[in-house]
Amino acid sequence: VIRVHKPTTTPAILLTDGIAARDVHCAAYEDAERRGHVFQVRRFSEVYRHPDVKSALITAQHGKCCFCESRVYEDGDVEHFRPKAGCKQSSNARMERPGYYWLAYDWENLFLCCSACNSRYKGNLFPLADGNIRAQCHRDTALLAAELPLLIDPSRDDPTDHIGFNRYDACPVNDSLRGRTTIRIMKLNRRAIRDRRMDKWQTIQVYRQILTREDTLAKTEDGRKVLAEIKQHLTSWQEDAAEFAAMCRATLRSS
Ligand SMILES: [Zn+2]
Repeated sequence: VIRVHKPTTTPAILLTDGIAARDVHCAAYEDAERRGHVFQVRRFSEVYRHPDVKSALITAQHGKCCFCESRVYEDGDVEHFRPKAGCKQSSNARMERPGYYWLAYDWENLFLCCSACNSRYKGNLFPLADGNIRAQCHRDTALLAAELPLLIDPSRDDPTDHIGFNRYDACPVNDSLRGRTTIRIMKLNRRAIRDRRMDKWQTIQVYRQILTREDTLAKTEDGRKVLAEIKQHLTSWQEDAAEFAAMCRATLRSS
């Protein structure tokens, strides 16, 4: 997980079609409330995954999944941080409905996510430190602000406060509950991701080994070329755009 800086300008489609769709849900909620019916959104508009929204997220997140940091670009899904249709505090808990229907088209609530993180692991899970403090309808503005999500919000939180690395294994920082919960729910140490972090970690170790012989290598033209290439890799792997930048930064900081 690395910090996501979304552009402050919301994609226009969310302000037009998105707000119109949100208004329909809110009116339906109030109608159900008046009639004493159970409210459930029958169908969400697809506007949240409009190509403009997706491409804005791809740019903001450098094509990477907001949780596992693997590159997905167009293969990624547009994910809701707060689930739109219904949410669960844990995998065994009952589904609480409605979900955050009024945030289904909210720019702040949308992220690019790989389909494994989105569908297989996160799904409807949205645990809170206190499950009783939860916004349940579009009028619950104060409750929404008071919620304490246990999953790290990549655009509001600094993930490095919560998740660090022991070699290529993600682990909680200072026993952070939010770090631990995010690693567990999003399976950030699943083999498919961990193996790819391991490959990069091992290459970093080889590079470091070579750099211990920097003085000798710098004496020849070829050696200088190798050193420059290695240093260029080590720099670019720590940039926001790099896959697994969080691990690379943590590894290279702990020298
Ligand atoms: Zn992912």
